[in-house]
Amino acid sequence: MLDILDQDIQYLPGVGPRRKTLLSKELGISTYKELLEYYPYKYVDRSRIYRINELSGDMPFVQIRARILSFETFEMGFHRTRVVAHVSDGTGVADIVWFSGAKYIISHYKLSTDYIIFGRPTVFNGRYQFAHPDIDPASEMQLSQMGLQPYYVTTENMKKTGMTSRAIEKLIKSMLDNMKEPLRETLPDFITKPLNMISRDEAFRKIHNPKTPDDMSKARYRLKFEELFYVQLNILRYASDHRRKYRGYIFSRVGKTFNDFYFNNLPFPLTGAQKRVIKEIRKDMGSGQQMNRLLQGDVGSGKTLVALMSMLIAIDNGFQACIMAPTEILAEQHLATIKGMLGGMDVNVELLTGMVKGKRRKAVLEGLANGSVNILVGTHAVIEDTVQFARLGFVVVDEQHRFGVAQRARLWNKSDKPPHVLVMTATPIPRTLAMTIYGDLDVSVIDELPPGRKPVVTIHKYDDQTTSLYNGIRKQINEGRQVYIVFPLIKESEKIDLKNLEDGFEGLKEAFPEFRLSKVHGKMKPAEKEEEMKHFVSGETQILVATTVIEVGVNVPNASVMVILNAERFGLSQLHQLRGRVGRGADQSYCILVSKRKLSEETRKRIDIMCDTNDGFRIAEADLKLRGPGDLEGTQQSGMAFDLKIADIARDGQLVQLARDEAQKIIDKDPMCQKQEYAMLWKRLDSLRKTNINWSAIS
Ligand code: ADP
Ligand code: MG
Repeated sequence: MLDILDQDIQYLPGVGPRRKTLLSKELGISTYKELLEYYPYKYVDRSRIYRINELSGDMPFVQIRARILSFETFEMGFHRTRVVAHVSDGTGVADIVWFSGAKYIISHYKLSTDYIIFGRPTVFNGRYQFAHPDIDPASEMQLSQMGLQPYYVTTENMKKTGMTSRAIEKLIKSMLDNMKEPLRETLPDFITKPLNMISRDEAFRKIHNPKTPDDMSKARYRLKFEELFYVQLNILRYASDHRRKYRGYIFSRVGKTFNDFYFNNLPFPLTGAQKRVIKEIRKDMGSGQQMNRLLQGDVGSGKTLVALMSMLIAIDNGFQACIMAPTEILAEQHLATIKGMLGGMDVNVELLTGMVKGKRRKAVLEGLANGSVNILVGTHAVIEDTVQFARLGFVVVDEQHRFGVAQRARLWNKSDKPPHVLVMTATPIPRTLAMTIYGDLDVSVIDELPPGRKPVVTIHKYDDQTTSLYNGIRKQINEGRQVYIVFPLIKESEKIDLKNLEDGFEGLKEAFPEFRLSKVHGKMKPAEKEEEMKHFVSGETQILVATTVIEVGVNVPNASVMVILNAERFGLSQLHQLRGRVGRGADQSYCILVSKRKLSEETRKRIDIMCDTNDGFRIAEADLKLRGPGDLEGTQQSGMAFDLKIADIARDGQLVQLARDEAQKIIDKDPMCQKQEYAMLWKRLDSLRKTNINWSAIS
């Protein structure tokens, strides 16, 4: 049976082939269903008509009911005509003004007819004026029907041919009028009733045509919940299937490698949080279940050490381990750190990135296949199919938001059972998002920094305040500290940015003739970079001028000042990561964000939150709110298992939780998806998976 929602919109009155092409090209809408799910982005209250003598200059959009008394036209040059219509409702006179389309306007609108005129009043020449308002004949609009008017996003191409928000509104109205039968319900009563939810049919009608704000919020509640509910049901079902199907390797013992390291090599005592997390990981690895754990810990909280010690447990149980970093530089830094920490021990650590080629690569691959490599450090190159391990038991994924369920599945073919997985992140993902990307991950948190760290003081300065900036830097260096100065480097403007860095470097050398400076950027040869870094690490140079290559990994406790130039060009999590490079020693550290004076509101908010808090969780939360989950660093092509049309992970946190709880109840009661009373849910989920590529990618 053909569902009415699958019908082609071409046959909807008012559409036709041309508009259909436009709608499908511009908005991806070609069926009733897609049009129905094209939700308004805002509503404007049109339940009240104002009199002209009630208008005031600071009103938002309002509507009046008035007649056109006369038209007047003014030549503006370049063959452009401004049209003014003088209108009256008996309480006063107002003007409507158009800056284009004179001919059409004068022929289309009639004198002595009542119109509903909707727009934003401004004062011009002592009169209220509406520029390009919405105008409808009053006879076609009944106040009782007006309620809240929905607004839809349209594109420039659409507007050119008259496909305005208003036109979409009318199309949807006519579609809803066409749908005589109520829409099929997609949530069972036992979920909707206790939660006081309106039916699906009612929700769709009300979301596009609410009479009152209450209608609107009931419709949104129902539709958002449903969207989130099926996302959660999908992820939880996946998780429960996998738990049943895949038993994990059992790492039953802690052996010589771990103990040797712990008693001989560990350079400092573990923090309480590190100890707790290592215990949690050990427990998981010994349980017979396959571990999927997310380790959240702020920059500098010591996650690498936790990862290393967990890898040693895998080695003690006869397995190989690997750690994946998002960039080559980070992978190289991990290699150096790990080799350094394991100094003198009999553990074979190798590197595999895109840069490792030829003979070297062959040797590493062989070592992995015959089991002689114990720990592999690498980038995404590690999950390629050509990389085969003898006995991979444990995988650490560092700083990767995009390592969602789909990517994890790629590890399955690397060993007979899926390896244990630890995902580490310093830009903590807010709970609601983590729940939705990872779904089934258990979460560990390092909520304690190694002792002796002081919160970094963050200060905002403008780029015309260099004198005080330089004085501050000079003072710190004279007290024996070192300073980072970071320039932005964005791929798209790489050349200009590099030139900026070079010029900036020369300028800084002149400004600080008494000090020595190093310079590092991503375009330098690795050996050169290393040389420069060494000078800074050893204290020979006092200032390190760099691009964001120092974002992650670098550790110079004596560096106490992080200056970020063009701070407006950095994202929140990047700023937070950079700031994490200082505050590692015993001295008070500073982060100076330097920006131009003229900033967008959003940028100002970003800088304010940085000055306000050092708490990575708060920053991540703010980031999500400012940018929305779609933009969250690393999640763009994440294979994120959802595509939300109405719900918003950042703003609808409580609903995410509610949806998750409801979905969990269902999974608990019907883990095998067999019970008749839940059949409707499983059927619905299957049909959603068929139409959503991302959803099916994780099956
Ligand atoms: P992140 O969590 O950002 O990856 P790292 O693992 O790079 O942090 O650790 C940051 C710094 O803190 C490193 O120099 C590391 O050696 C040091 N560190 C880690 N654990 C401790 C500890 N328990 N006590 C003192 N310093 C520690
Ligand atoms: Mg790290």
